[in-house]
Amino acid sequence: ESKEQHHSVTRYKESNNKYSVVRLSLMTELKQAIEEGQLTLNYQPKIDVASGKVVSVESLVRWKHPEHGFIFPDEFIPLAEQTGNIRHLTHWAIETALQEHVRLREIGFDIKMAVNISAVDVSDLELPPFVSNLLEKYSVAPSSLILEVTESAIMSDPDKAMLALNMLKNMSIKLSIDDFGTGYSSMEQLKRAPVDELKIDKSFVLDLATNKDDLIIVKSITSLAHNLGMTIVAEGVEDNGSLTALRKLNVETAQGYFISRPVEAHILESWLQDNNG
Ligand code: C2E
Ligand code: CA
Ligand code: CA
Ligand code: CA
Repeated sequence: ESKEQHHSVTRYKESNNKYSVVRLSLMTELKQAIEEGQLTLNYQPKIDVASGKVVSVESLVRWKHPEHGFIFPDEFIPLAEQTGNIRHLTHWAIETALQEHVRLREIGFDIKMAVNISAVDVSDLELPPFVSNLLEKYSVAPSSLILEVTESAIMSDPDKAMLALNMLKNMSIKLSIDDFGTGYSSMEQLKRAPVDELKIDKSFVLDLATNKDDLIIVKSITSLAHNLGMTIVAEGVEDNGSLTALRKLNVETAQGYFISRPVEAHILESWLQDNNG
């Protein structure tokens, strides 16, 4: 199992606060970083709980900074949203992930590719045509692309979000509500949202095997989703106990360190060849 490097970012975090010079310069560096190829995507598989087969992979961005080492997305996505660089980052991420999808298909793994989009993107009416052009450019079926959008992103401007989500849905792109259970989505919004799956936040999944409250919550979310015609992905599966519990609850899809950490493309490719043959 390959571990991601966390030490350099820790050092960076320790010497940093909200208004530090480092943080301010990162904001101006980000656009250039994309152009210079400092951003990269790692990929984490999601498996079908019943069969153990990989059904999709989620792309997760990392910034390999020449001075600060690896910077994780929680550090720079909020900055990118504030400075307006997020659209550039999202466009880059979708194109890079689709290229990797094509590569995986070429080596025999026709699995869905998931990309995270931010609150800014979800009310951007130019995103659907942008995605449409890329799908055509790379000859990728829209149903092979999953866009993961957080509950709170939808709630920040529900009417506009519903408009953009419906455009994407009408193109047959798969939509997933991320971090489900941590935001304030009303049942009304959930009913309106044209989404295919709910991703249960890892805070409810990490201790699933031992925590009765978590078990009740996951069970309830699962039955709600199934009754609304949606499927469930559980993230943060770190042990076999959680995976067994998910199987009993008829959760469709699982993702987490127990299955694989997010890894570089070439590691994913050999991992798939070893585990999904
Ligand atoms: P997320 O979409 O909820 O992604 C799940 C996070 O949990 C990832 O952190 C992943 O590495 C981590 N994780 C996966 N399995 C486990 C596990 O078993 N246990 C634990 N404790 N953690 C696990 P990461 O990669 O640092 O990403 C953090 C967040 O940054 C993501 O949360 C997502 O909201 C955002 N993000 C990542 N990539 C992108 C991107 O390309 N675009 C946008 N807009 N946001 C991104
Ligand atoms: Ca996600
Ligand atoms: Ca999540
Ligand atoms: Ca998250």
